[in-house]
Amino acid sequence: TWQEATGWTGPPRLGPFGPLTISPAMVGLHYGQVVFEGLKAYRWQDGTLAVFRPDAHARRFQRSAERMAMPHLPEEYFLQAVDAFVATDGTALPAGDPALSLYLRPVMFASEACLALRPSREYTFLLMGFVTGGFFSDEPNPIAVLVSREYSRAAPGGTGQAKAAGNYAGAFLAQQAAVDAGCDQVVWVDAAEQRWIEELGGMNIFFVRGSGPGATVVTPALTGTLLPGVTRDSLLTLARERGYPVSEERISVEQWRDECRSGLITETFACGTAAVVTPVGRVVDGGTTWHVGDEKPGPVTLELRQALIDLHLGWTADSHGWSRLIS
Ligand code: PMP
Repeated sequence: TWQEATGWTGPPRLGPFGPLTISPAMVGLHYGQVVFEGLKAYRWQDGTLAVFRPDAHARRFQRSAERMAMPHLPEEYFLQAVDAFVATDGTALPAGDPALSLYLRPVMFASEACLALRPSREYTFLLMGFVTGGFFSDEPNPIAVLVSREYSRAAPGGTGQAKAAGNYAGAFLAQQAAVDAGCDQVVWVDAAEQRWIEELGGMNIFFVRGSGPGATVVTPALTGTLLPGVTRDSLLTLARERGYPVSEERISVEQWRDECRSGLITETFACGTAAVVTPVGRVVDGGTTWHVGDEKPGPVTLELRQALIDLHLGWTADSHGWSRLIS
């Protein structure tokens, strides 16, 4: 059980940020039995501290842990850690500043000293965090992306849908290639056929087909090899509520290119806890480059982005129960 594996019965202990003591033979260090989350707290204009959908992050953390043969962290413990951290460090946030948030990084790692290839019998759970601005600029400036055809992030049956440390290790070279090509991010395609769009390095991806009120909001279906983003889920709900038809479907890089060129796809954006909603303006795929729309943030992108930010900052009523208020 969780208690046997960690010895933790709560309440969480708060301490200063500093080095950890680990064994050189720690399982997590050698074999990557490590899962984590990334979520944010915001400070509203009236001073209220609000964490965005920590319950959804707690459940994804549990699913990630399950895939990595790690113990089930009860949701209430996850939330206790979030609450305790935000109640103390959240006070460093200025009220109502849309540019700043408190980024929270819960992590659980296999802390037993053992070089045998089996799941650890000891685990450490900790949560760190820091005040941060947006991942990209706070203005919705479009980014450029590079399609990775050489490397893949996740294979069928692998750990792609888990927020596991190893998924990111495999991505460093591809992300480096994106930067070398003058791009901000890598676009992952499926490992089997190397053509179905999955996600970006640390974000999910959306497309807008058509324009005006009849526009359709499209995102790759959850195939088991991409991360089910909490932001992705929130935006699907917000798009539906605004009357846009939404579609979770397979979309290939070739379709993306051709539909951008024919004007059928009018917008593309990335989304995630860190990136919030960030427009994609230019795509590089080998020797081919194409633009999305006129390379400026599109109206649907901006509308959904604002709807999400309004909820983060408590500017609109929280009809979904997504904000956890910390006192
Ligand atoms: N995909 C990957 C690979 C990610 O690391 C993230 C960030 N957690 C996302 C998508 C977006 O997920 P979320 O909206 O839950 O932050």
